[in-house]
Amino acid sequence: MEPGSSEHRDIVVIGAGPAGSAAAIRAARAGASVAVFEKSHHGRDKVCGDGLTPRAVGALRELKVEPDEAHRIDGLRMIAGKRTRELAWPTTSRFPAHGAVLPRRILDAHLADAATEAGAEIHWSTEARPVIDDHGRVIGVDAGERRWTADLVVLATGAPGAAARLVGAERIPDEPFGLAIRSYVESPRHLDRHLEACLTLTDEHGVAIPGYGWLFPAGDGTVNIGVGALSTMKGFTRLNLNRLFESYYATVRESWDLGEPIERPRAWRLPMSASRRHGPGWVAIGDAAGLVNPMNGEGIDYGLESGILAADLFLDDPVTAPARYDREVGDRFDAFLRTGRRFSFLIGHPWILRSGLRVAVGTQMAADITLAVMGNLVDSETPGMSGRVLRLADRVLAAADPLLRRTRAAR
Ligand SMILES: Cc1cc2nc3c(=O)[nH]c(=O)nc-3n(C[C@H](O)[C@H](O)[C@H](O)COP(=O)(O)OP(=O)(O)OC[C@H]3O[C@@H](n4cnc5c(N)ncnc54)[C@H](O)[C@@H]3O)c2cc1C
Repeated sequence: MEPGSSEHRDIVVIGAGPAGSAAAIRAARAGASVAVFEKSHHGRDKVCGDGLTPRAVGALRELKVEPDEAHRIDGLRMIAGKRTRELAWPTTSRFPAHGAVLPRRILDAHLADAATEAGAEIHWSTEARPVIDDHGRVIGVDAGERRWTADLVVLATGAPGAAARLVGAERIPDEPFGLAIRSYVESPRHLDRHLEACLTLTDEHGVAIPGYGWLFPAGDGTVNIGVGALSTMKGFTRLNLNRLFESYYATVRESWDLGEPIERPRAWRLPMSASRRHGPGWVAIGDAAGLVNPMNGEGIDYGLESGILAADLFLDDPVTAPARYDREVGDRFDAFLRTGRRFSFLIGHPWILRSGLRVAVGTQMAADITLAVMGNLVDSETPGMSGRVLRLADRVLAAADPLLRRTRAAR
């Protein structure tokens, strides 16, 4: 093909993270022609905690991507001050009984390989830019000195950047977002079967941080260690993530017998809103659509689920797919994510955070409910106590929302 000429595919995907690869796998397996553009290389890394909840393991199972290297995880060790609770994942008929940890360079390579096996073509080291016609319709992308037209362009570009800006899919400025930093360290406890999360982080001035420090054992000799914080905290713009990381590392170093960080700790954003996630000829999925759980920072599952959904709706009817995608992804996630964002304003107030934590880990039952609610692991068919707590939180936080935003701690 000559430079400057054009090609057509049913679907063009920008970004080969979990979201983009999930959409490509699903669409290509059903016979659609799919081209994926990824500006990085095969086996690229992504700054992440590498934690997969049972919800994410379920989504991978649905895609039939179940890597052998994944280290099985049975639950969460929740630490708040001197209190430690060891929790099993909630039992539901909807999600598998276990989670996993798998470094992203391995997980994402498996997903991309599955997309290739399904018949999708992946163009590595190729940046793509959406092309918008005079009527505002996204008709394809410019990539590698060519134009690729498509019936649907799937924006799977991660935390908003240039491509998202072009179509107007940016973060909503007043909504919260997260920042997190991680590295890998060697530890004899790398085979531990629990994720560990310390919920009582403070900054150097002793201010309680809405967020957590984590140790996620990868089963390969290493542990993923990191800290994350929500933008709703007081002094967020001055928060020094490197210092926070160092102080958390120093706290857990002895109990996990940690080696020195294997690589320089790296930080990245966690988008939790998007002003638009569809338009004529395009949809945004995963982080590009702001689909990150504000209560725990999980985004892999939401990327996989939204990618599968976008592909399924396209296969059903390409014309109505963008609008139906927006509606259906909204039906599945919006209420929960909105509650999560409201919750993040609430815990941005240090005194509310401290008293909330006392309740959350006060008893085994309260901690179990906290895990189910925060992990969005409530089974709608058998919601039980966790479902009731989620519904109540939804109503109370909706009523308190205007006040919470007015009094937000970040000011
Ligand atoms: C420190 C940290 C820890 C986290 N821990 C967890 C965790 O433990 N569990 C969890 O579930 N989630 C976690 N998350 C969130 C998770 O990493 C993201 O939600 C997830 O990566 C979203 O997947 P995605 O496919 O939407 O985007 P990404 O994984 O970001 O992939 C987007 C891809 O698009 C490519 N791209 C962008 N623009 C272009 C372009 N114009 N052309 C071509 N390619 C392009 C990028 O190179 C990238 O490969 C964490 C996030 C951070 C920052």
